[in-house]
Amino acid sequence: MPVPPDPDASASAHLSDRLQAVTEALAAASRQDDVLAVVLTSARDALGATAGSVLLLDPPGQSLTLISAQERSRELSRLGQAGPLDVHGPVRDALEKREALFFEDQRSLGQRYPRWPHAQGSQPQEPHAQEAQSQLPIGVPGAAVATAVLPMLLGDHPLGALTVDFQEPHHFTDPEIRFLRSLTAQCAVALDRAQLRQELEARVEARTAELEGERAALDAFVAYKEAVGAESDVHVLAGQAIRVVQAGLQHVSAAYYELEGGWWKARVWSEDVAPDVAAEIQAGVPEDAPDFSSAARSQTAVFADGWNADANDLPSTGTYGAVALLPLTVNGETRSLFAVGTQDARIWSDREKALVRAVTRGLGITLERTEITRQLQARNAELDARTQALEAFARLTQDLATHGDPHEFVRRAQEVTLSLLPPGYALYYEQDGAHWRNRVQVGSVGNDDLQAFIDAGPPVGHTPSVDVPWTTGQAYYQDDYARGSDTPPEIVQHVNTVASLPVFRHGAVVGVLIAVLFDGRQWTPTDRVTLDTVVRSLGLALERAEQAGELRRRTEQLERSNAELEQFAYVASHDLQAPIRAVTSFAGIMERRYGSLLDERGQLYLRQIVTSGEHMKQLVDDLLTFSRVHTEPHEVLPVDSAAVFDRVAQRLQVDAPDAQVTRAALPTVRADALQLDQLLQNLISNGLKYRRPDVTPHVRVSAERDGPVWRFAVADNGIGIEPQYFGRIFEIFQRLHVRETYEGTGIGLAVCKKIVEQHGGQLWLDSTPGEGSTFYFTLPDAG
Ligand code: ADP
Repeated sequence: MPVPPDPDASASAHLSDRLQAVTEALAAASRQDDVLAVVLTSARDALGATAGSVLLLDPPGQSLTLISAQERSRELSRLGQAGPLDVHGPVRDALEKREALFFEDQRSLGQRYPRWPHAQGSQPQEPHAQEAQSQLPIGVPGAAVATAVLPMLLGDHPLGALTVDFQEPHHFTDPEIRFLRSLTAQCAVALDRAQLRQELEARVEARTAELEGERAALDAFVAYKEAVGAESDVHVLAGQAIRVVQAGLQHVSAAYYELEGGWWKARVWSEDVAPDVAAEIQAGVPEDAPDFSSAARSQTAVFADGWNADANDLPSTGTYGAVALLPLTVNGETRSLFAVGTQDARIWSDREKALVRAVTRGLGITLERTEITRQLQARNAELDARTQALEAFARLTQDLATHGDPHEFVRRAQEVTLSLLPPGYALYYEQDGAHWRNRVQVGSVGNDDLQAFIDAGPPVGHTPSVDVPWTTGQAYYQDDYARGSDTPPEIVQHVNTVASLPVFRHGAVVGVLIAVLFDGRQWTPTDRVTLDTVVRSLGLALERAEQAGELRRRTEQLERSNAELEQFAYVASHDLQAPIRAVTSFAGIMERRYGSLLDERGQLYLRQIVTSGEHMKQLVDDLLTFSRVHTEPHEVLPVDSAAVFDRVAQRLQVDAPDAQVTRAALPTVRADALQLDQLLQNLISNGLKYRRPDVTPHVRVSAERDGPVWRFAVADNGIGIEPQYFGRIFEIFQRLHVRETYEGTGIGLAVCKKIVEQHGGQLWLDSTPGEGSTFYFTLPDAG
């Protein structure tokens, strides 16, 4: 006999199938909504309930929020009590006791919660209940007759509750209770998982955004670091620095300030700065604004937690929370500031400080590099100016010969000075008793009264522009000419800048050169170097001119006295010839005619007269020859020196037949033929004359090419000369022997020297006493 189906057992099987399906469905549900949909649908469908809802506790566990309700639940549920948990009701109970509550009909609910609004349209009686009522988002007009309230727990931790409502009285069977408990437990786990997942997703999203921000900041910083190496315009780099700071720190504004005339003026600022703030920071902050001056003076970064806008004279920046001011120094001086302001009040973190410092350091490097470049350029400009000035003076001193007048040098120096400067004029004062006399002026002074004042001679001791350099020996530069100090102020209103420089000659100030400019100008180091150089060179030029003048005077004097002497020598020797001739010839006649009448002593005296007369004649002849070297006109032409030698040798051989006079091949030279003849004659005849007693005299003439000239050598094998006499023998009348030993007048070599020098050559000798001498001389080649 078939066993009739047990209705409980089949319901149980049905419910456990359901649960199985729920488990599977929940495994796939990843979001809170999906979880709730699965749970509520299953609860309703499995139990034939009218509606269901899930209420979740807020994190502190103070109130409940209805997060999902099955259709009609809003109308039906009296228990879906979202709101504060202090309202006494079934959900609170279920949660407190950690136990599910099942109300099979309205009466059982009413008995348990008599004050709970369970009648249709009825209102709670107690004030706090009324309060709760007023907070209920869910109305109670519908009447749920049976209800199950299950606390949703995760371990021991309450999450909320699941409610299931029926419109009819409902008996909760054990399988149904187990089903609901299991469903609630699964719901709790699934909701928690969904929650975790959601949190994780949010965290990942937040972290991704953070990383992207950091990457952007890093990219910006890398680009900035590269720019620090390459960018020379500090304002451009400051713009980049601002962008880096903004990328690295959220909600900040930044600006780059420079000090100008006692004000910190913003030159570059971030785009977010409001127009009124931009106008204010651009107009400038006083140098002594407390935070600004403290950063500038201490030369260390000021990170002010909290910002006093008014105290710093920047009223429009009151919205900034904290401000950082970082000084940038060049050559030990604070020249600019990098400022960062947060848009919320807060404290600077170490990371933020580090970033701001790093960025500012980059700016500092660029500033320093810019400064070094500027200094180098200035130095170059200075050198250029100096070179220019020196070149100008090189040209000036080349004219030494033509412009011996010192004032002409001063004028040139003034012209050079003015050519290197903006419009103005130049004066040159020398002291004249109690007055300064303007000796040289270039350019118009631009005012007749001023010119008259200058011409009248300003008083010494009351004219600082001249007195100061004169007395101190130092240049006196007035960027801002002290009007009224030298002259009545009304006549120098058009004058703005003055430089006064002492001019030295042999270490003493001899005058003051003044450059006056109509326009204002700060004398730059370059200007100063230029002016100093010009004036120093002027002093040197004056000294050289003086020396050159002195030299010229001395040369002229010497030339004059030489010419006079030569003239005298010529005249004397020429005029002496006749009387000497008369003396010697009359002495000869006397000897011939009256010699027999004289005794032996008388005859000796007479012979002496004749000999001395002849010597005197020789002297006069030689002297005449000597003076003629200069006075007689001579003709320099190509001359065959071999031919000249041959004639001379032939002549000399007559008097010394035993002597050997030879030559090598001799060149054609540019010379006066007669003088060359005389030169060779003197040198060869000396070689023969100063012979050694037992040695056959031999003189040999040769020549060697030496660049544009020929070096002749006249070598003999005679007695030789001691080296200490090498200089003396070329002087007129200087002899090394008495006439009794070797005849002569001591003029021959002096004549030779004059001839050679007249041809632009040189004469010298080499000799070994007892072996012989070689005389060398040079003459230009004929080519
Ligand atoms: P002078 O021969 O008439 O004395 P010079 O002017 O020719 O005058 O020579 C000056 C002096 O130089 C000579 O007195 C002689 O002492 C010395 N002297 C010149 N030539 C030679 C020579 N070739 N060898 C040695 N002594 C010489």
